Amino acid sequence: MNPPRASNAAGKIVYSHPARGKSVYVNLTPRYACTNKCVFCDKLALEQLVDANLSLERAPKASEVLRELREMITRKTPWIVFCGIGEPTLYLNSLLEITRTVKKDFPRVRVRVDTNGHAKLMPQNKKRDVVGELKQAGVDAVSVSLNALTPADYKRVCRPQFKNAFAGVQEFVRECVNKGLKTRVSFVKGVRGLKMGRNEAVALARKLGVEKKNVLFREYISRKEFGGI
Ligand code: SF4
Repeated sequence: MNPPRASNAAGKIVYSHPARGKSVYVNLTPRYACTNKCVFCDKLALEQLVDANLSLERAPKASEVLRELREMITRKTPWIVFCGIGEPTLYLNSLLEITRTVKKDFPRVRVRVDTNGHAKLMPQNKKRDVVGELKQAGVDAVSVSLNALTPADYKRVCRPQFKNAFAGVQEFVRECVNKGLKTRVSFVKGVRGLKMGRNEAVALARKLGVEKKNVLFREYISRKEFGGI
């Protein structure tokens, strides 16, 4: 997928998340660009939760992100987290440049990337050592949405644009663990028809080298079923 281009950013680039303490969040992706189309992707719910419009019209330049980060980062900021609605590794070069600068200017602040784990599958990255580059730039941790237990379920609930995406995500997770990134994986629960056993999910994560304490489960509640979030 080629990252979309546009001219003006309208939504928030840097934001905070009321449920996640003093960490600072970075939104890199315009128009919610993603290589998945998850059936449970609820843009409105997240925007309401963080009280921000996260729909950007264009990808922000690294310099713009850094300018905003410098205003937001304080002595109490523990993490900056690349996480908008959309896939931040579509903008890998910006992500790396921002990370390098943050680690240089704020060495105490840790950096995490919340990702669908498709970066190595993207055609533009085929010849790159994506995980090695993340590590070298100073990324401390990744949180990878694994979501399902089988390729068929992954295809059905995440609707990825790449073939063999489930295997690709697992390979990404394994490599992150092997290269020393703190790695956590998340699974989704509550999606109609999706089998999600806690023990099976932990066993899959363990097989990939992820520690049990770093396996997360997210409860999906559709707005329809919930009566509006
Ligand atoms: S991977 Fe995340 S951003 Fe992409 S469609 Fe799924 S829930 Fe939405």
